[in-house]
Amino acid sequence: MPAFLRPATLQEALAHLAQAPKLRILAGGTDVYPTLGDEVARVALMDITGIEALQGVTLSDSSLRIGALATWTEVQRMELPPAFAALQQAGREVGSPQVQNSGTVVGNICNASPAADGTVALLALDAEVEIAGPQGTREMPLADFVTGVRQVALQAGEFVTAVHIKRPDAAAKSAFLKLGARRYLVISIAMVAALIECDAQGKITGAAIAVGACSPVAQRLPALEKRLIGLGKADIAGALRPEDFAGLAPIGDVRAEAAYRSASVPVLVRRAITRALEA
Ligand SMILES: Cc1cc2nc3c(=O)[nH]c(=O)nc-3n(C[C@H](O)[C@H](O)[C@H](O)COP(=O)(O)OP(=O)(O)OC[C@H]3O[C@@H](n4cnc5c(N)ncnc54)[C@H](O)[C@@H]3O)c2cc1C
Repeated sequence: MPAFLRPATLQEALAHLAQAPKLRILAGGTDVYPTLGDEVARVALMDITGIEALQGVTLSDSSLRIGALATWTEVQRMELPPAFAALQQAGREVGSPQVQNSGTVVGNICNASPAADGTVALLALDAEVEIAGPQGTREMPLADFVTGVRQVALQAGEFVTAVHIKRPDAAAKSAFLKLGARRYLVISIAMVAALIECDAQGKITGAAIAVGACSPVAQRLPALEKRLIGLGKADIAGALRPEDFAGLAPIGDVRAEAAYRSASVPVLVRRAITRALEA
């Protein structure tokens, strides 16, 4: 009979994982249950929702900490500086309010779906992933954490306890845009997050642009990020070049053809940067 475990502490959870490293972690369950379907009764699960240390979203002077049990709804209800708008906007696009009430931010990055909306916003925000394991706690950039389709850099016996984001400059603003086959309750064809910092003259002093659903793992656009420095709103459309998107590898699937994704991304990027500038 497969186990269903519900530890109350981090130590208990780590002890369970040490004994059975293949235990499937269950947070909000909005990915786990649909993925397992009828297999659910045959899979050993560890429900982490009883671990109080994983709760909550905390904003300090230096960073935002999103505990592994913090839901999309909790993130949306926080009063956060404009730099975090992309994350809150991404949260509003995750399924429906029911899904956002149960689904966690950390579950979204751990499922490592190319279409995970939250991962794109967090990548633009240079998020770090906090991981607990048998050797203690470690942190790694989200950019290194998601390694492939449904693959993350967790070692045996480890699980994610939180996501940390350093507070960007107070003047930084961000935006998230998602393209789907319809407006709501839809998996992304492509999505873009832009974090932009400007000086008093409206010239860009820092930029981070991330694109999702157009490669196995969401990508930043470093060449474009550099080229945007010193530009103003009127220069954005002319700044984008085809080579900026050369690192993407969009595929054709049930949601869209590869060519449609390729054509959509520059438009989404331009609009996301403009929206961040205007925010
Ligand atoms: C109807 C519907 C619509 C959806 N629409 C969208 C959408 O538009 N955009 C989108 O991005 N997603 C969407 N999703 C997917 C899902 O809701 C999100 O990815 C959500 O954030 C997952 O969080 P969760 O807590 O439910 O994760 P869970 O289902 O509990 O877990 C997801 C995965 O992460 C692992 N995991 C969870 N927590 C941890 C942890 N702390 N450490 C290690 N591994 C962990 C689990 O083992 C599992 O593999 C949708 C889902 C449904 C059912």
